[in-house]
Amino acid sequence: MAWVAPDPRPNLVGRSPLEIAELLAPHVDRPFRATQVSRWVIDRDATSFAEMSNLSKELRSDLERRFRITDPEILETSSSDDGSVKWLFGLEDGVTVEGVAMPEDGKLTMCLSSQAGCAVGCVFCVTGALGGGRNLRPDEIVGQYRVMLRRLAAPVDRVNIVFMGMGEPLLNTDHLGEALETLYERVSPKRITVSTSGILPGIRWLAGVERRPKLAVSLNAPDQERRERLMPIARRYPLDELMTELRRFPLERGRRITFEYVLIRGVNDAVADAEAVARLIRGIPAKVNVIPLNEDATHFPDLRRPDDSTVNRFAVSLRDAGLTVTVRWSKGLDVDAACGQLKGRHQRRGSQST
Ligand code: SF4
Repeated sequence: MAWVAPDPRPNLVGRSPLEIAELLAPHVDRPFRATQVSRWVIDRDATSFAEMSNLSKELRSDLERRFRITDPEILETSSSDDGSVKWLFGLEDGVTVEGVAMPEDGKLTMCLSSQAGCAVGCVFCVTGALGGGRNLRPDEIVGQYRVMLRRLAAPVDRVNIVFMGMGEPLLNTDHLGEALETLYERVSPKRITVSTSGILPGIRWLAGVERRPKLAVSLNAPDQERRERLMPIARRYPLDELMTELRRFPLERGRRITFEYVLIRGVNDAVADAEAVARLIRGIPAKVNVIPLNEDATHFPDLRRPDDSTVNRFAVSLRDAGLTVTVRWSKGLDVDAACGQLKGRHQRRGSQST
């Protein structure tokens, strides 16, 4: 394929109204023109300057020469029987990331990626098995939301966003922070969740920002030894330090920390484990999201999903201990819904076809 030079024009996607105003200031006659442009890009999801019908033709042409409005390209779409839709997005430098939209209780939850891979290396995760990738820029993060919103024609007030796609969002805090500021123009921080494997500097960063999304922490084991085996990052950020940090994490009124727990047969699914989890998080306003493993015979053939009765027993034990518990009976099992599975399939097909 012929090499294509990167487009040098700044992308207006993923920028806050203030940033757009600063960029456009030298090129517009009055400040409200920049506000009009940011309203088109942020509120109305414009994909071109030609749509901006309240700007003169001359100004639209001038802006077109200087700036661009570019979203990720859709390379592949998979729809599941349960209504979940998964996209593989292609970015300008050829890397691919995934996004998933899942209907849930009359709402639509969009799962966005923050990195084009993940170096954290959780042993139950296909993205982790595929290895690290670069940080996504704010336009690439917000662009996933824009594309899904357009494709699904979803009412904005019914959309929740979770950063549980590819990558560890708290290893990309600069770009995540910028993307959040833009997303807040459409989606309340109360409806956005950032999920982390327990990156302590990132959690401290989140604790210090003015407008905070909700926090979810991938726990997966009630003790350091097993957590380290499942999540090598726990060696760097040990469980006791993580819990200390979470106990002092500032929570807005009515908010709770979500603890995610991927349930793996014979590894972390005993009733005693549920009781240990309850003891570990006692005192923290919390809920637990139990996620039966999405099996993947290629990347972690030895890990199995527990049977449904074990999953239920685990959830009931947590409930009996006084915790709020949800079980995520995986959406889209038939479309490789777990993080990284579509990209993994795409890569395998690519390597098979060469
Ligand atoms: S579960 Fe999340 S943090 Fe762990 S390897 Fe996968 S993408 Fe990275």
